[in-house]
Amino acid sequence: MRTAVIAHRGASGYLPEHTRAAKVLAHLMGADFLEQDVVATRDDELIVLHDIHLDTVTDVGIKYPGRARADGRYYVRDFDLAEIRTLAAWERMREDGSAVYPARYPAQTGHHRVHTFVEEMLLINRLNKATGRRAGIYAEIKSPAWHRQEGVDLAPLLLQQINKFDGAGDPDLVFVQCFDDAEVRRLKQDLKCRWPIVQLIGLNEWQEAETDYAELVTPAGLARVAQLADGIGPHLSLLYTVVDGQIEKTPLVANAHALGMIVHPYTFRSDDLPPGFESLEALLRFCVLELQVDGLFSDFPDQTIEILQTIDAR
Ligand code: CA
Repeated sequence: MRTAVIAHRGASGYLPEHTRAAKVLAHLMGADFLEQDVVATRDDELIVLHDIHLDTVTDVGIKYPGRARADGRYYVRDFDLAEIRTLAAWERMREDGSAVYPARYPAQTGHHRVHTFVEEMLLINRLNKATGRRAGIYAEIKSPAWHRQEGVDLAPLLLQQINKFDGAGDPDLVFVQCFDDAEVRRLKQDLKCRWPIVQLIGLNEWQEAETDYAELVTPAGLARVAQLADGIGPHLSLLYTVVDGQIEKTPLVANAHALGMIVHPYTFRSDDLPPGFESLEALLRFCVLELQVDGLFSDFPDQTIEILQTIDAR
């Protein structure tokens, strides 16, 4: 059994998320896939960034004061690519400027830059050629409904650009993921996406999409997802409950497997473990040996691979 390791925003436990440095490191660590979150600039360029906002991962407030919307946030959609290229890409901050993970890369330092989705694929092409080890891409369409309100349709642009990836002809090297179940339906039925699709599953309280995740994880909801998607990407909290200090699995993974779907949960972080687990190893043992997940999103690909090797999952 080989569990796929997806480098979550690159090796984001070590270097600022989604920077080229984080992607190169993840590739050298042996990650099977490098993840891209994709959002659109004002001039309809696709860039690799987790949020529709710039302020929690760049110095935009310093370089472009006065360009925030009424809610105080700086939106990618309000900036041209040329402007975004002038920004420093920083370790993730809270809105007050403090580090989300204080032990990680020092906050508000470094000379990393934001780059485009195409540039990232060209980088991975080069790394794959240079090392002889073929890592795949795992692209997420961020907030598609919001982007359409803003006048840009992300999905067709993204599907077209994936062809720049040398592995585009190999369905084992590309995944397309989205939180929005309406967009997953569209990817499959209208846009005829030719790569495996993963329906991400979060919690309704995050308001990530109009999708009702509580309904999506029911047997009827999952059966509907299985008509459209090749797999699910559930939040770790949906995989188990803690009862009297004991970990008890939910039926989600088994139900998805019974429907022929793969399961790639998120996010595995040795510095931010979910309730009930005292180490990354304990969490991996549960997810891999008991639940038999097919792959996972990790901020620490090296630690994850090392542990998976010790439990014969690599
Ligand atoms: Ca993502």
